[in-house]
Amino acid sequence: MKITAIKPYPVWIGTRNQLIVKIETDEGIFGWGESGLSGREKAVVGAIEHYREFLVGRNAFDIGAIWQETYRSQYFEGGRVLQAAISAIDIALHDIKGKALGVPVYDLLGGKQRDRIPTFASTSLPPGDAMIEQARELMAQGWNAIRFFPAGQDSRGIFEPRESIGETARWLVKAREALGESVVLGIDYHHRLSVAETASFCQKMPSGTLDFLEEPIRDETPEAYESLRTLTDVPFAIGEEFSSKWQFLPYIERGIHQFNRIDVCNVGGLTEAMKVAGWSEAHYVDMMPHNPLGPICTAATVHFAAAVANFSWLETRASPAEGYLGFYDTSVFTTQPTLDGAAYPVGNAPGLGVEVDEEFIKKQSFKFWEAPHLKRGDGSVTNW
Ligand SMILES: [Mg+2]
Repeated sequence: MKITAIKPYPVWIGTRNQLIVKIETDEGIFGWGESGLSGREKAVVGAIEHYREFLVGRNAFDIGAIWQETYRSQYFEGGRVLQAAISAIDIALHDIKGKALGVPVYDLLGGKQRDRIPTFASTSLPPGDAMIEQARELMAQGWNAIRFFPAGQDSRGIFEPRESIGETARWLVKAREALGESVVLGIDYHHRLSVAETASFCQKMPSGTLDFLEEPIRDETPEAYESLRTLTDVPFAIGEEFSSKWQFLPYIERGIHQFNRIDVCNVGGLTEAMKVAGWSEAHYVDMMPHNPLGPICTAATVHFAAAVANFSWLETRASPAEGYLGFYDTSVFTTQPTLDGAAYPVGNAPGLGVEVDEEFIKKQSFKFWEAPHLKRGDGSVTNW
């Protein structure tokens, strides 16, 4: 089965751009993939168009060899742009192979190990009584793992870490008291803190307040996280930006983090994600996949989550707390994973089990979007 076309569609659907990739074959079977480098989709389109030049004509079943060739057959290998391109291609090839063999993608990954994929939901309100009430509503609807977001970003785009950590810690302590001991509570600090600020934040809460702390600091330096590991006992959830197994390596091998926020649309697709999962299993680190994109990302991650032993929760953006985001539009993605309570049932359709209205996305255009450029009160740049 030969690849005949690779078509990237960087299109605005609902409230965000999605970089959807279609791969066609000479037997009429096609596959869908998605790429996850949000905000830099056009750079990834350029990489996909380059890879297309030597992938057309290749056997679509040679997924592992194609991964190696796209990664290694260049002098300047790796990096987030190229890996995001490889991810979408790899996912689409899995979709093709599953459809051709008449099996769900998880059967290509070793078979399913669970029937339902538990998720964690995020609240959408800043720390306060309404946030706690929203968490309570999510619990009533079946969620037992909930993620909060910190205080401190004002309407002018000013973020002061020291103001944020005090306010946020105060409300997290109240949330734990109000919601009880059995619910899993975490927070995503979106790498907006320093080592010292993170230590202060954690020290403002009794041990046991938080079950996970997601990305408190930037991740370029594993040694900084190692230092932070000695200053708090809160488990870390890290890795949504990592674009290869080699980026996970120091974190896994040095025991820095406890949850892998792996993103199958950025790490290098399902091929690379399964290797990270195996490596993590050997170190008893659980997979907690990042899943902020559209239904193709969700479907690929559901298959991944079904096939790995070491799994905690899949992120979902489809909970009632986040409302209608539009990028799961059922008129565009006419077949897609759907939550049953707080879990995604594992289906048995061949391939990814996603259908896309290609005529619709052909007519959609790309919309320029840039993440907020946060500043401190003194005018200096800080992380978004
Ligand atoms: Mg995150």
